[in-house]
Amino acid sequence: MIIIGGGLAGLTAAIHLSRLDIQVILFEKEKYPHHKVCGEYLSKEVIPYLEFLGIEISSLKPATIDRLHFSTKEGKITSHELEMGGLGISRNTLDHYLFQQAKTANCEIIQDAVLNVNFQDDRFEVETASSGKFIADFVLGAFGKRSTLDKSLTREFISNKSGWLGIKAHYKNAAYPKDLVSLHNFNGGYCGLSATETGAINVCYLASYDSFKKYKDPEIFKNEVLMKNPKLAEFFSNSEMLFENELSIAQVNFDKKEQVHQHILMLGDAAGLIHPLCGNGMAMAIHSGKIASEILLEYFQKKQTDRREVENEYQNEWNRQFKHRMRTGRILQKILLNEGLAELSQNIISKFPILMPQIIKRTHGEPIHV
Ligand SMILES: Cc1cc2nc3c(=O)[nH]c(=O)nc-3n(C[C@H](O)[C@H](O)[C@H](O)COP(=O)(O)OP(=O)(O)OC[C@H]3O[C@@H](n4cnc5c(N)ncnc54)[C@H](O)[C@@H]3O)c2cc1C
Repeated sequence: MIIIGGGLAGLTAAIHLSRLDIQVILFEKEKYPHHKVCGEYLSKEVIPYLEFLGIEISSLKPATIDRLHFSTKEGKITSHELEMGGLGISRNTLDHYLFQQAKTANCEIIQDAVLNVNFQDDRFEVETASSGKFIADFVLGAFGKRSTLDKSLTREFISNKSGWLGIKAHYKNAAYPKDLVSLHNFNGGYCGLSATETGAINVCYLASYDSFKKYKDPEIFKNEVLMKNPKLAEFFSNSEMLFENELSIAQVNFDKKEQVHQHILMLGDAAGLIHPLCGNGMAMAIHSGKIASEILLEYFQKKQTDRREVENEYQNEWNRQFKHRMRTGRILQKILLNEGLAELSQNIISKFPILMPQIIKRTHGEPIHV
């Protein structure tokens, strides 16, 4: 069996399946460790499942986060307790750790890009950039929110233009509390701050092209737009950037995607990207790896189901777990970040802070026990 993409979704499925003696080859185009554009807030709902896999995130010494601040673009703050809470952990460390766990579990990991996948005569042929072709009975697509592979596979969403870009860097700021995730609005987007296992504060923001294109440079954009929010101004004035340059990704797209495409079971962002405001994409990626692994294990162990049933079961379980969260994420994006509605909706939240726990509940899952 082949997994394409070694982010959270792909590595989780690789560990789960390899630990139960399924032969897995995983392709990842990048070298580990590497930084990724991400808010790095991991919802605690996945901890019981990760422990079941023998993965002890606590050994990485993440920040424990149980408070949320939400500020309007004028810097008006509301404070909220996070009932379940989350962990602040850099993708650099987390993905690398899962990569090592997958290797220990005997998963074969090949550092190469997959160029195309063809399904014929009930099996897949996977074409790579420099390692040749591979044959597999199942393929899991865990290649993230946007990959050249989406083009080769002629996925519908790939031709749609997206109006968003994501930018991130780590900062040194001794005053920022380790137990706090804060979301700060600005004209054309929002910025999330939270501590990581190194003590560095991760700063990650999503901005519309329309707001960014006038400035083009993240440093100028930070000074001219983000720092108009007094809370962000206070943070940046007392911080030092630890990266040489910010990381950025373009074309962040929230369109609906297929969860099964050309018989490939899509995991994580390849199946659908929940709006980052919700802080649940990392947990959903891990959870989708679990769902696919369990269904495939049933197939391999009992041989009771055929391919069509595997695909239907995956689709149904994906919908049951994630469809409503994705819908809520889309609604939130429309009302909190839409130019006409942003001010009104942000002020409503600041006047009625009781709404926030409801929003969090609707965009997160229950703890995943196995
Ligand atoms: C701005 C922003 C902020 C976010 N903040 C948060 C947050 O705070 N909390 C949260 O829970 N979620 C957050 N998310 C969402 C979260 O980052 C994703 O949901 C999560 O990373 C999905 O994991 P994944 O494994 O599906 O994809 P990824 O982690 O993107 O992994 C995909 C992997 O596939 C590899 N790949 C791609 N194409 C190929 C190919 N052809 N061949 C081989 N390898 C390939 C890539 O190199 C990559 O390593 C945020 C997202 C954005 C955009």
